[in-house]
Amino acid sequence: MKLKEMGEFAFIESITKETIVDRETLKVGIGDDCAVYVASAGQDQLITTDSMVEGIHFSFELMRPFDIGFRLAAASISDIAAMGGIPRQAILSIAVNKEYDTKDLQGIVDGVKAQCKAFNVNLVGGDMVGNTGVLVITMTVVGEVEAGKAVLRSGAKSGDWVGVTNVLGSSATGLDVLTAEQKEYYASKDAYQRPVPQVALGQHLRLHGATAMNDISDGLASELNEIAKASHVHISVDKQAIPLHKETLAWSELRAIDPVEFALYGGEDFQLVFTVPDMMKEMLEKHPLLTFIGRVEDKPEGVTLVNEELGEEIALDAKGYSHFTE
Ligand code: ADP
Ligand code: MG
Repeated sequence: MKLKEMGEFAFIESITKETIVDRETLKVGIGDDCAVYVASAGQDQLITTDSMVEGIHFSFELMRPFDIGFRLAAASISDIAAMGGIPRQAILSIAVNKEYDTKDLQGIVDGVKAQCKAFNVNLVGGDMVGNTGVLVITMTVVGEVEAGKAVLRSGAKSGDWVGVTNVLGSSATGLDVLTAEQKEYYASKDAYQRPVPQVALGQHLRLHGATAMNDISDGLASELNEIAKASHVHISVDKQAIPLHKETLAWSELRAIDPVEFALYGGEDFQLVFTVPDMMKEMLEKHPLLTFIGRVEDKPEGVTLVNEELGEEIALDAKGYSHFTE
């Protein structure tokens, strides 16, 4: 059924089921002028928002509606993870042409709800407006972190180590594989279609003294530059140390691309890049999902990529040569 046949109110009614997963922090959910939630004592409140535009950030050809919603929620929850915080409440705004099929929209909301549920986040409200063009969806998330303890981009110090969570470049690999209409490479396609924000690792890193942190939404090169700039430091990264999935290695060989490109310039991994003091490294590097890739140095602000094999060092710009940017 088209949205114009169903109407806004019936549509909102149809999505309100199972939006509340954490009663303790919520007084009023969908249905009033505002939602009412409880802020915990001793916590700072975090708030972030992300928008996705059809044709730019997603397409119905490469993603199911459920995955589109799942990804949108991942993006916002990931921002909370990158502060070392806990996500709590979410609102979802939809700007949509009345000709859209309500099944597709409900699929998107189901994806949002599933991602929220996985992280104990309530969907407490939103907005719906008509538009004449492509679909635009926006999600805002409120989270909490112990007062004064949010991990900023600006805290990296000379001598700190630089690490990342899991593997990088899988989402970009997945997008490339899907665009080429290739079979298999399931882990990469999954990383693209169903990204998982790193909330638990974000908190783990905060509790273990992370000095700076950023989530990887625009590729490692860009995120490292953001930390270097905000912290006024130099970051040196070992190219060979960047963790990649074996599918990224296999696919890049087939495509005759340097696999590290997927990690450096491919976006939307929603992994974390962080810095920790020297004394924390030994303990954290035992963690199976953490890999150290570089060091913060007392040199002019910027990022360099070191290729030990070739004995080569290059300046890593936020947007260098890439297959993913113009
Ligand atoms: P208002 O006129 O106060 O803006 P609306 O009629 O737009 O209220 O929305 C009615 C209720 O439905 C509100 O509680 C609002 O938060 C919720 N809502 C509207 N759109 C969405 C959406 N896309 N997702 C979740 N909740 C929504
Ligand atoms: Mg409204």
